[in-house]
Amino acid sequence: MKKILFFIMAIILMFTSFGNIGYAASAKPPNIKKIKPLGEYTVTATSLYIRKGPSAKYKSLGYVKKNKKVKVYEIKKSWAYITYGSTKGYVSSKYLKKVTAKKKPTIVKKNTTSKVKKAIGERIVNATTLYVCKGPGTKYKSVGYLKKNKKVKIYEIKGNWVYIIDGKLKGYVSKTYLKTVKKPTPVKKTAPKPKPKPVAKPKPKPAPKPTPATSKPKPTTPTVNGHGKSYGQRIVNVSELNVRKTRSTKGKPVGVLKKGTKVTMYDVKSGWAYVTSGKIAGYVSTQYLQSTTPANRKIIVIDAGHGGKDPGASGNKLVEKEVTLNVAQRVEKLLKSAGIEVVMTRTGDTYPTLEDRIDTGVKANADTFVSIHCNFFSKASANGTETYYHNGGPADRANHSKQLATFINERLVQAIDTTNRGVKKEEYRVINSNPLAAVLVELGFLSNKQDASKLASNKYRDIAAKAIYQGILDYYKYIGK
Ligand SMILES: [Zn+2]
Repeated sequence: MKKILFFIMAIILMFTSFGNIGYAASAKPPNIKKIKPLGEYTVTATSLYIRKGPSAKYKSLGYVKKNKKVKVYEIKKSWAYITYGSTKGYVSSKYLKKVTAKKKPTIVKKNTTSKVKKAIGERIVNATTLYVCKGPGTKYKSVGYLKKNKKVKIYEIKGNWVYIIDGKLKGYVSKTYLKTVKKPTPVKKTAPKPKPKPVAKPKPKPAPKPTPATSKPKPTTPTVNGHGKSYGQRIVNVSELNVRKTRSTKGKPVGVLKKGTKVTMYDVKSGWAYVTSGKIAGYVSTQYLQSTTPANRKIIVIDAGHGGKDPGASGNKLVEKEVTLNVAQRVEKLLKSAGIEVVMTRTGDTYPTLEDRIDTGVKANADTFVSIHCNFFSKASANGTETYYHNGGPADRANHSKQLATFINERLVQAIDTTNRGVKKEEYRVINSNPLAAVLVELGFLSNKQDASKLASNKYRDIAAKAIYQGILDYYKYIGK
């Protein structure tokens, strides 16, 4: 019996040590001075953490934002060794997409230099937004756009494409949306000829991509058929907001809205809304739509973290989704008694997606968003309260979010007497894609005995709720509401 046990032990030891050797070897970063990179890859996750080793257990060294490019040197077991600026480390290769080499539209360069000297004429833009492409075809990237009635110099006509230069903007536009400049002509006595209808001629080619907004005949008032009731007006909060045909960044652009433009919003779903503004109608990302909460009203979203199929963290007999909902409901009561309008993302054990939670605030025309969570760490000694905000987006939103986080965090650590872990920037989805001033509060650690015993008690839940409520009042006072 002992012999057998010894034998089994020996085998276990063997495997353990082999395992360790294998792991250590794979964790060794490749010598990037000696090997060629596999190529450039684009990040597909909102924020992708760069870690010290090839596993989520390793310390994060920073993160790369969506659509940024990184150099990949090695991919092993779904982990890629990358460089990004001066940062080197591992990222999950699931969120990387290889950059495929595109043929360079050399024709543009040639034309830019050879044709720049002599314009062959002038035309007027006859579309709300006319996209300028890098080359004479739909496959080329758009490099900018021209607004309606803009006069541009033309240099070359290639089939249905015209090479134009407008200041620094150079490239090809679809001929269909350029009209000739009318010269003042002596008044003729003959009856005016009927205008040729643009639709009369069958097009030899399919409509060029991207299609300007006026490519299809539209009624004078924007149609909202199938887009439900209006949620009222919102204001564009980014210098240029792309309006698209579908609810995705891959959707065909149908127009651009400038900062400060008022839009009427319909049909909010998954971070996208159908909006109309003048003749432009289509989908925009709601993270660039500023609320128009009336000055005499305060509308706040209280988001109880997790719920339903997603319990969140659990420790010391507590489950995060239960604690967050319970505290959120206490906060709700206090706010309502102070005349503040509260919108809850959930009121029971359900799981709204992160986008649903953001949509809730957008639809309600809320001004503020507070998400309540509990922390967890593998080491039971980790403890304390921290509050997150997102530093991106419009400057006023980032500043307001930071202030809100500071007020709530200060009130909380004083009231429930936890370690102050501070106010931190983070890329959590509910705060980084949110158009509202938004924060995420981590009340304390469920994995820590002292923190958990407080979060288990009704007394401390009340105290915590009151602290969050007071932090919110501090914030409203700060922004002059
Ligand atoms: Zn959580």
